[in-house]
Amino acid sequence: MNVLFASSEVTPFSKTGGLADVSGSLPPALARLGHEVTVVTPAYRHTKQLGLALETLEVPLEIPIGSKLVRGRVLRCQMPGGVNVILIEQDDYFDRAQLYTENGSDYKDNCERYVFFCRAVMELIRLLELPIDVIHCNDWQTGLLPALLRIEYQHARGYEDIVTVMTIHNMAYQGQFWHWDMLLTGLDWKYFNWRQMEFWGDLNLLKTGLIFADGITTVSERYAEEIQSQPMGCGLEDVLAQRRSDLTGIINGVDYEVWNPKTDSHLAANFDASDWQAGKALCKAALQRELGMTESPRTPLLGFVGRLADQKGLDLLAEVIGQWAGTEDVQWAILGTGDPRYHQLLTQLAKAHPGKIGLSLAFSDSLAHRIEAGIDMFMMPSRFEPCGLNQLYSLKYGSLPIVRATGGLADTVCDANATTIANGTASGFAFVDYDTRELEQTLARAVAMYRDQPDAWQRVVGNAMHQDWSWEASAGKYAELYASLAARRTDSRENVGETS
Ligand code: ADP
Repeated sequence: MNVLFASSEVTPFSKTGGLADVSGSLPPALARLGHEVTVVTPAYRHTKQLGLALETLEVPLEIPIGSKLVRGRVLRCQMPGGVNVILIEQDDYFDRAQLYTENGSDYKDNCERYVFFCRAVMELIRLLELPIDVIHCNDWQTGLLPALLRIEYQHARGYEDIVTVMTIHNMAYQGQFWHWDMLLTGLDWKYFNWRQMEFWGDLNLLKTGLIFADGITTVSERYAEEIQSQPMGCGLEDVLAQRRSDLTGIINGVDYEVWNPKTDSHLAANFDASDWQAGKALCKAALQRELGMTESPRTPLLGFVGRLADQKGLDLLAEVIGQWAGTEDVQWAILGTGDPRYHQLLTQLAKAHPGKIGLSLAFSDSLAHRIEAGIDMFMMPSRFEPCGLNQLYSLKYGSLPIVRATGGLADTVCDANATTIANGTASGFAFVDYDTRELEQTLARAVAMYRDQPDAWQRVVGNAMHQDWSWEASAGKYAELYASLAARRTDSRENVGETS
């Protein structure tokens, strides 16, 4: 199949979260299965500063945005693994310090920026004569694509057989804008109704994608269930419930070329499932030094890497850190950026407990790797979690995840208890209710096992490290979905032919 994979962030070109990791690793996995994949993404300031060899394609990219005509440039390069990447350059929109927000506020023209991006994607197919079977859209930034295809392009030459897949990486971000932004889309106001693009008086680009796409996926089976009702559906639960038969949960995979303690060049020492103790101990000591903690091999070291957002359970986490830091012999390694409230709270905690809390309020890919390797346990007490990647990295790095059993966390982490330890399925610790006491009790259980039951601990770490969450299986499921949607399209066209 010829797949156009459209995403607003793609590792290694740009990243704010898990979407980038998926966009950087699913396309190469599809290519390994024999599919021809073209990734299309914006050329941000950061992307252009990476020093990549970018070829400029001499095609006239002129996009109508409301009453303006906006020009862009088309750049091309290759991902490792031979996947073609097209970068859309438009400096007024994308040459900015960040991707979507700055100083805690969204860019005011986010709707315009990604309408431009979507229209550019549609035009590229014609300009570059790309033979495309599937457009795979990711999150609200690409939600306009299925509508553009159905409403404007489907009858044009080269677009007739294209099907669309809309993948939801997080229902909480929907691309909701005031109604006048409908003008920017260039689509007729008749589509601005509650069954299609409108949502409580606003334009909603994720909803648009969900309505017009041929197939819908999200990033775990549990989350696919959860989003069909409140509160996880974030207002779009009815839309999803209606399209239940077109909605599939496909768990994200991990790129083990990038996240593998055996080969990871960011680490003080490498290790693997068969021999991890000495290497992990060196990584732990190095991390304690790097983050200004007391060097102490047997003190449980607990980690967190991620967006400092309510979603990630930061309120629970901060409360538990506050309670434990004064009394318990544990340490915390924390890396994240986000809500200024949590920046402040964590800074205060780190100041109050020097040597126990190592805090970095930054975005650092290499430190994220060193934390994964150096800690003993990874904290993910998320309020909701579509898939979550850090728990998968943690499993591979032998850092047992402590998770709230929601979304992808429920699908990927098996709580350690007598039964699961005995049958070899235990891989971490999980709790159900979003509650500080539950988190505390689960953490206490994990710390007790670490201290008092070294054999059981080692067995669970071994289980975790042996698990295989590589992309191969999930990429195969996407490929099956593409094929079934393409077959359905062919059938429906043939049926139309018979009756007309
Ligand atoms: P989400 O997509 O909801 O942010 P995921 O767990 O799916 O959460 O993916 C988060 C990704 O972003 C992981 O690869 C994680 O390591 C990375 N990440 C998040 N914050 C930071 C940070 N401050 N520094 C480095 N990497 C980060």
